[in-house]
Order: sequence, then C-alpha cells, then structure tokens
Amino acid sequence: MGLVVKKFGGTSVGTSERIQEVAQTVKASREAGDDVVVVVSAMSGETNRLLELAEALHPNPPGREVDVLLSTGEQVTIALLTMALQQIDCPACCYTGAQVRILTDSAFSRARILDIDAEPLREDLHQGRVVVVAGFQGVDEDGAITTLGRGGSDTTAVALAAALEADECQIYTDVDGVYTTDPRVVPEARRLDRITADEMLELSSLGSKVLQIRAVEFAGKYGVPLRVLSSFEAGPGTLITYEEEGMEKPLISGIAFNRDEAKVSIIGVPDTPGIAAKILGAVSEANIEVDMIIQNISQQGLTDFTFTVHKRDYQATLDLVRENAEKLGARQVFGDDKIAKVSLVGVGMRSHAGVANTMFRSLSDEGINIQMISTSEIKISVVLEEKYLELGVRALHKAFELDVQPVPELEEEASES
Ligand code: ADP
Ligand code: ASP
Ligand code: MG
Repeated sequence: MGLVVKKFGGTSVGTSERIQEVAQTVKASREAGDDVVVVVSAMSGETNRLLELAEALHPNPPGREVDVLLSTGEQVTIALLTMALQQIDCPACCYTGAQVRILTDSAFSRARILDIDAEPLREDLHQGRVVVVAGFQGVDEDGAITTLGRGGSDTTAVALAAALEADECQIYTDVDGVYTTDPRVVPEARRLDRITADEMLELSSLGSKVLQIRAVEFAGKYGVPLRVLSSFEAGPGTLITYEEEGMEKPLISGIAFNRDEAKVSIIGVPDTPGIAAKILGAVSEANIEVDMIIQNISQQGLTDFTFTVHKRDYQATLDLVRENAEKLGARQVFGDDKIAKVSLVGVGMRSHAGVANTMFRSLSDEGINIQMISTSEIKISVVLEEKYLELGVRALHKAFELDVQPVPELEEEASES
C-alpha cells in the first residue's frame, strides 16, 4: 500500500497478549512491503484510573500536572509494543509526543496540534524501522506536556498521516467499523462500508465516540484517507469518503446519542432586545459551552429560555444563571441533568422531507416525550428523558429500517449498461 499509519485503541493494547497480537499485525503489514507508523492509546481503563488518582488528591487538579500524569499511559504502551516488535524480529523504535515534537497550543487536556516535525520519522522508516508514537499527547512551546482530549489518539494518528502524506490512516478498534448506531445499544446495528466525512463529523460531534471529532475534522482538512477496522478480525471496515459519488444516499446513515448534557431553563424573563445576549453571554464568558438553545414566543411581554451544557458544567451554569436571573427579573430558574440527546444523521435528508415527522411519530408511539428539538441540513436532534434513551434509539433504528441492508440500485444499473 505504501505508507500507512495504524492506530490501536485501549482495548486493542489492553493486555500483554493483545500487544503481541498488535505486533503480529504490524509485522505482517511491514512484511507485505508497507512502511508503518503505529499510534497507540493507553491500556484500556488506564486513563480513567490515572484521573481517579488525581481526583483523590485534589478536587480540581491543575491542568499542567494532569497532562503530565495522563501522558504516562501512552508512554507505557509505546515502550511495550516496541519491545514486542523487536522480540519478533521486527525493527522498531518509539517516541513520546514531545520526542517527535508534536507541537500543540497550551490548552491542557484539550490541546490542539499546531505542527509536527515528521523528518526524523521519515528517516526511521527509510532505515526499515516501524515507528511507534504515543497517541493523545504533544508538547507546547514552553516544553510542557499537553494532551488532546479524550479519544485524542485518533487525532494523533490522522495528524501524523497528514504530516507524512500517508496512503491511509487505519483506526483499529474493538468494533469492525462504523455502525448505523452503537452496536452495544442496538444489537441489530449494521456496519457501513462507507460513510461521508460530513456524516462522520456529525456522528462524532453528536456523541458517537468511535472517532474523535477532531480526527475527522483533521482528516477532512487534509484529505487523509481514513478507515475504521477491527483489531480482532480481518475485514474491510468502514471507509470515510470525501465525495458523495452521485449514488443514491440512504435517508439516514446513522443515529448518535449523548448522555453528557444537562439543561437549564429560565422562565418568565422580560422579552426585550438583548435578553438572550445577557443570559447566554454570561455563560460563555465563564468559558461554558452551550449546545442547544430554544426561546419560546413571548406572552404578555415575558419569554422562556432553555439551553443545554455539558454535565460537568451543570452546577456552575445553574449558579451563574440563578444569580443573573434575579437581576434580569426572571420568575424561575430550574435545571435537569437526567436528559439525553438523540440525533439522526444523513446526507440524504437534504433532499427529503418527512424525516422529522417519522422521527417524532415513532418516539411518540413509544410514549416518549420530546423536550427540545434542533435541526441542521443533515441532522435532527431531540432531547428526551435519559431513561428512555435506549428505547428511543432502538425505535428509531427500526423506524428508519437501518438494520436492513439497502439494495445497491445504481451499481446494478451500472453493470447492466
Ligand atoms: P478505542 O479505545 O479503540 O479508541 P472507543 O471506545 O473510543 O475505542 O470507540 C469504539 C466504541 O465506539 C465501540 O466499542 C462502540 O461501543 C462505540 N460506538 C459508538 N457509536 C458507534 C458507531 N456508530 N459505530 C461503531 N462504534 C460505535
Ligand atoms: N487514552 C486516551 C483516552 O482514554 C486517549 C485515547 O485512548 O485515544 O481518552
Ligand atoms: Mg477512541
């Protein structure tokens, strides 16, 4: 194939035996003539374990030290995998993010990659070595270790593939591709052979953690060919594509969901110009990201707002809004952190009406109440009570027949002509 970047996630390197299996996969690819760069995550559970250790000692652990701590997880796996490769006579060397010089900004725990010095890696490849790089980490201008946010090893892999102009970036994980929804929640979920980058971007941003959103963004920006594969069984996986290729698109490609949000409502605020800016401006000034927002039509000069934030920001948001609401003359502020967001994603939605209708009807058939709705060109999201999440996702999966393999109409036509 040429040059490939292969990324192995936490479960794929979770034990010594699994690391040996990864080493065999990498060696086989090397022997087939590929130049291979490998990116690994920490062993499964390790990042959470480290975070718990930090939280046991400090209620709000300092970002710089958290990143020093978390980066050790991946440092362990690069060393172990490199040893395993050498043991099976596959020449290899390993690098931490700082050793490569994956330069990032200084936003600890959510740093962005600014630049990668790929030259030394090219030299290693040229010398016939497999290069093993720690995922999820970099270094800032001052030499501080940074990390890229949960799931960030995906982004390391794509960024390295872009810097090295690799022929493909392969994300090996514990499922054999991208599915119509999380197969752990809907066993009937179906693997997709391909998915457009736009759809993948929506799925990642709406909660499907199979690929980190920044990895998909990066891949789109640099046109990196990206594939999701199983580390346990051979197969074609799912290819992320950049063109819609003129083929008939299914209405819905996938369903994403997210349990990480909470909602805050402000009831009975005077409906005057600038009111939204006053309420939401204060929230964003506190560096709290707001996701969905709805404002009701006003009645007798009063209106209501509801918006969602990440659960970790829930209490802070509630406190802030309560404080402000008094000044703004609002009647009531309340919140709910037992909610979930379910989203339908599909480029086929662009040209079809009625998706929302089917969605709302099938949720109501299950007796599920919709609390909030938001739409964009290729997605519809609804907020519902958290306890109905799985029921709702299953009902929608069925209603849109996502378990049924679509008939490849156009391919048939093409072969006839
Ligand atoms: P890794 O540790 O390899 O990075 P992750 O746990 O981050 O793996 O991502 C893989 C998981 O993503 C799967 O085990 C699956 O439960 C979940 N997932 C969520 N949505 C999807 C989807 N649409 N297709 C496939 N997997 C999904
Ligand atoms: N180990 C990190 C995490 O658990 C990064 C990754 O696995 O991609 O989020
Ligand atoms: Mg992941």
